[in-house]
Amino acid sequence: VFITFEGGEGAGKSTQILRLATHLRERTGRAVVTTREPGGTPKAEAIREAVLAGAAKPHGAFAEALMFSAARIDHLDRLIRPALSQGAVVLCDRFSDSTRAYQGAAGGVGESVLRALERVVVGETHPHLTLILDLPPETGLARARKRAAASNGEGEADRFEAEALGFHERLRTAFRAIAEAEPGRCAVIDATAEPDAVEAAIREAVAARLPA
Ligand code: C5P
Repeated sequence: VFITFEGGEGAGKSTQILRLATHLRERTGRAVVTTREPGGTPKAEAIREAVLAGAAKPHGAFAEALMFSAARIDHLDRLIRPALSQGAVVLCDRFSDSTRAYQGAAGGVGESVLRALERVVVGETHPHLTLILDLPPETGLARARKRAAASNGEGEADRFEAEALGFHERLRTAFRAIAEAEPGRCAVIDATAEPDAVEAAIREAVAARLPA
């Protein structure tokens, strides 16, 4: 089973992935693999660092889409597909919907280009369920800035600081539009709630969509 988490900055994806992983391990006794994009394998993490480290945007959105696609190919080949074929549950922090939202809707790369790219990169390995953690960008950015200040920055903080609020509004609209277009795959989760409530909503969505 392949489950992806999507959403803007500060939505709480990483916290919720860990919580769901613990829950699924206990509930199902199955192996649960948690991973993230961009990244997830050494090669893909190197690409992530090359693209995200440092200030602002060194590359255009199309180049980013290509680099993150290269990272995704490695991630799928070396980690996601092998884990799925061994029967593990794979929980991935961001996947191709982030490319559609960040490089597409917010970055300006054409939809048909990204669709073609997604088809060749992802092939048949579509998520069974995508949890879209939804919250107003102001709330998410405030959380993300707090986290960046606390961790003293991995060098990735500059990136969302640099984007105008409109960029983040476009992201949110894009994720919601994906959910609307693919209701069978996607569930929108209210991420403004307290972590426990978000966790409960996620468990409910998983139980409803993917009965044990
Ligand atoms: O989810 P996480 O905070 O790890 O994402 C790191 C950064 O990667 C985000 O701030 C986002 O700006 C960027 N990103 C991107 N395009 C993607 C995926 C992530 O620009 N397709």
